[in-house]
Amino acid sequence: MVDFPKPRIPTSPVLSLASFSSDKHQHVPSILDVGQVKFVTSGRASIALALRQMKIGKNDKVLLPAYHCIAMVEPVIEENCVPVFYKINSDTSVDLEDIHARLDNSTKLLIVVNYFGFPQNLSKIRIFCDENNILLLEDCAHSFFGEYDGRALGSFGDYAIASTVKFFPIYEGGLLVSSRHSISSLHLESAGAGFEMKAALNALEKGFEYGRLRLLQKLIYLPILLKNFIWGHIKKRVSSKNIDFGPGSSNGGPEIEEKWINKESSFFSRYMIKRASQTQIVTRRRENYLALFNALTGLPGCHPLFSGLADGVVPYVFPLFVEDPEKNFGTLKNLGIPIIRFGEFLWQSMETNICPVSTSLSKRVFQFPCHQELTPAELSWMIKEIRGVFLSNGPVE
Ligand SMILES: *Cc1c(COP(=O)(O)O)cnc(C)c1O
Repeated sequence: MVDFPKPRIPTSPVLSLASFSSDKHQHVPSILDVGQVKFVTSGRASIALALRQMKIGKNDKVLLPAYHCIAMVEPVIEENCVPVFYKINSDTSVDLEDIHARLDNSTKLLIVVNYFGFPQNLSKIRIFCDENNILLLEDCAHSFFGEYDGRALGSFGDYAIASTVKFFPIYEGGLLVSSRHSISSLHLESAGAGFEMKAALNALEKGFEYGRLRLLQKLIYLPILLKNFIWGHIKKRVSSKNIDFGPGSSNGGPEIEEKWINKESSFFSRYMIKRASQTQIVTRRRENYLALFNALTGLPGCHPLFSGLADGVVPYVFPLFVEDPEKNFGTLKNLGIPIIRFGEFLWQSMETNICPVSTSLSKRVFQFPCHQELTPAELSWMIKEIRGVFLSNGPVE
């Protein structure tokens, strides 16, 4: 493993004063509109809970995209199901013909991802699932916000999950919703005071790391709220030993931990999701995405994965298709550019020839942050550096 320097700008949203500007007047479509929400500590825990709610378990087949991250497969294995991988097309849309060919009597569920925030053809997929008598799980880890055919993303699936850490300045979080089934009987447990403390402090620290806490100090009410909340809990904690302060999912690991599956998300995360300015998140992500799109279109050796940004799409990141990933990845990382590579590691026992498109995307699509907490200076620095690297690759053919 090569050690790259720490990214010079935050890869994911960090806490700042701007995180809080409230916007009570405007409604923004999101997965929160779908119905009752269960807040847990990760997206993968939500997938495991969705499987349990659907009573999908031992030997049941679950259709997963060949373009995936390990954290999506882990809960399927954890629940003793059999993953069956299906093809996706080069625009990341699901290949329904391929899925159809893989169906059999033990196939119970189709999981689809709205990659990078861009919706699948969900109306068609919904009809497909109904016709073939399988359930649908919408993985909205990349699409917390947005709509399709006038309906919030997350409302097409029997269940839908989100990974809230990808959109909010928080340490841990995922959620489960259902537009079709009641989830009120699903009981979540508290993860304890040590966890609550860690969730709050970690988010503050991350903001501090990137110079945001200077602004935060101006927020009198938040430190007071946190101080009282945290110290109250520390006192209680002193007697209890062996507390697991946080789930592995928050440390970048791909695994799923049984004991974290049914734990409720922290007060801090739930508070942030309620209080963060949704209008700003949506507006800024779209603006940042378009700035990246405009600046990085037409460079040699790469092109934006998607050709535009339709209304109603709220991007998770900016995906750039890179022709020679080996050459450019290290160069960009050494400059301190944050790069996410979704699916960089694919499920080991998946046959590699199932979907050459997925194998290619997993290597060649670099994702750059477009989140709401990037400052204009950070965004233009990143754009300048990325342009420099690709321009030095040579002229456009
Ligand atoms: C990140 C991710 C998950 C898992 O979310 P965690 O919060 O990391 O557990 C699931 N599906 C997709 C598509 C993801 O990108």
